[in-house]
Amino acid sequence: MDVVNCTACRKLFIRQSSDLCIDCIKKDHTDFEKVREFLRERRKVRTSPVDVEKAIGVKKENVLRYIKEGRLLISEISQMEIMCESCGKPSRDGTICAECRDTLRRDLAQAMLDSANPSKPRTYRT
Ligand SMILES: [Zn+2]
Ligand SMILES: [Zn+2]
Repeated sequence: MDVVNCTACRKLFIRQSSDLCIDCIKKDHTDFEKVREFLRERRKVRTSPVDVEKAIGVKKENVLRYIKEGRLLISEISQMEIMCESCGKPSRDGTICAECRDTLRRDLAQAMLDSANPSKPRTYRT
């Protein structure tokens, strides 16, 4: 049996498939439904995760997480004003803009190459 701390409320619980305890899973689900409904109502209005937090009290971190986890439909977040976590520019499709994502991906690929072949000369493909 795997007893862990809930990542949301720090309560000890027996781990099943999630890092959240039953109470927090329930709350998370309710929050998610609230966010989804709110976004549906405001489909034509630019909305940022901060607006969501102000309006319905669901933390912007959670809103971002729903987006990251792909739980909200593209049509539901199409009017979302999301800032790139890395450079602060508006990003349409997630929490990191396309530019920063490219940079990240390149860095990651390079890091993997480096760890796979520590001594081999590098070849760059751009
Ligand atoms: Zn919890
Ligand atoms: Zn960026």
